[in-house]
Amino acid sequence: MLVKVEQIKETGLQLNEPIGLELLGDALGGAASGQDTGFRATGPSTLQASLRKVSGGVLLEGKFTAQVTTPCKRCLGDVQMKVPVSFTLNLVPESLARGEDFLDDDESSMEKKERSQAEIGGSFDLEDADEEVFDGKTIDLDPIIREQLLLALPMNAVCREDCKGLCSQCGTNLNEAKCACEQKPGDPRMAPLKNIKLSN
Ligand SMILES: [Zn+2]
Ligand SMILES: [Zn+2]
Repeated sequence: MLVKVEQIKETGLQLNEPIGLELLGDALGGAASGQDTGFRATGPSTLQASLRKVSGGVLLEGKFTAQVTTPCKRCLGDVQMKVPVSFTLNLVPESLARGEDFLDDDESSMEKKERSQAEIGGSFDLEDADEEVFDGKTIDLDPIIREQLLLALPMNAVCREDCKGLCSQCGTNLNEAKCACEQKPGDPRMAPLKNIKLSN
């Protein structure tokens, strides 16, 4: 999905663009990509975005909702979820970034970010916006969508708040069945534990 800077008028540019399932799936990774997030996209989405020219670049505000599935962190069952993604980016032309001797290495680019944002200043929410460099003519939204989706993924997806998970001994899904691990009358090793009531 490409946007030319010349398409952005004084009043800004509003986008309502479909995001293909393939792009989302690609972002989430898998066997083919060698980088697997454990999430799978289950449907296409729609990007709602607004682009405005601001001093020194283009301010991009975007949001979309990704429908994904992932294994529950406790019981490994499928979790269907909707991941809301919203972002504000300050897109800076390469020429401007180059003027600052932009380096790729993470730590120094963080420093540059802080410095250049202070320099650009202005009354917009640029202060809070992350910075992205582009060629100054064409904005490619696909890599931005991929990156922002990855940033929005939840760390601890569970199928439900009170998911009981799997028994650590026998692997039984404790949401579905009670396993025999707590109560083996025939096992002498369990005898000392016979009278202990587990709280859950
Ligand atoms: Zn679960
Ligand atoms: Zn068990």
